[in-house]
Amino acid sequence: RPLIGVLALQGDVREHTAALESGGARTLAVRRVAELADVDGLVIPGGESTTISRLLQTFELLEPLRARLADGMPAYGSCAGMILLAEKVLDGRPDQQQLGGIDMTVRRNAFGRQVDSFEADLDLAGLDSAAGKIHAVFIRAPWVEAVSTGVDVLATVPDTPAAGAAAGRIVAVRQGPVLATAFHPELTGDTRVHRLFVDVVRGRA
Ligand code: GLN
Repeated sequence: RPLIGVLALQGDVREHTAALESGGARTLAVRRVAELADVDGLVIPGGESTTISRLLQTFELLEPLRARLADGMPAYGSCAGMILLAEKVLDGRPDQQQLGGIDMTVRRNAFGRQVDSFEADLDLAGLDSAAGKIHAVFIRAPWVEAVSTGVDVLATVPDTPAAGAAAGRIVAVRQGPVLATAFHPELTGDTRVHRLFVDVVRGRA
C-alpha cells in the first residue's frame, strides 16, 4: 500500500486522511521535511492559500516541496491546494508563494464574487461514471482561467441557471501525476477522486 502524506499545516486534514485510507492508502500527516521525504505522494487540503503559503515558509517546507514536485512526486490539491499547485494566481496576495506543479492560471475566490459557496453535480473524466456524477462543493473556491497544452481538463461547471457566470469554468485538472480540484470531495463521502489519486500514486492511472 502506498504511503500518502496529507499536508497538515491547515485545513481539513482528517477528512482527506479518512478518504485516502478508505481508498487503500496508508497515510502520514506531513509537517516536517523528514515526513515529506518519506511519502510516495501528497495531498494539499483546502484552507486558505495565503496562510498555507506562509506556514510552508515557517516550517521550511516550501523549497523541499517544490523540489519533490519538480522531481515528479504525485500530488493532489483541493481548493487552496489547487491554488498552491498553480504556476500563476490571479487575485492572490502579492507575497503569496506558488509551489507550481500544474501549468495553469487560477483565479482565487472566483466563485466568491457571486456567492461564497456553490454546489453542482458534475462529470469528472477518469472516474467510474456508472456511480453517477460527482457532487462538488465549492467554498470560496478558485477556478482555472487558463491551462497549457500539457494539462488535461477533467471537469467543468455544468451550464445550469444556478451556475451563472461560473458555467463552463474549469474546476478539475491533471498534469501527469498532479491532480487538482477547485471543490472538496473529502466533504461528501464520495471517495472516487481520492481513489483516482491513490491509483496515480500506485502508477496505475
Ligand atoms: N479562498 C481560499 C484561498 O484563497 C480557498 C478556500 C478553500 O480552500 N476552501 O486559498
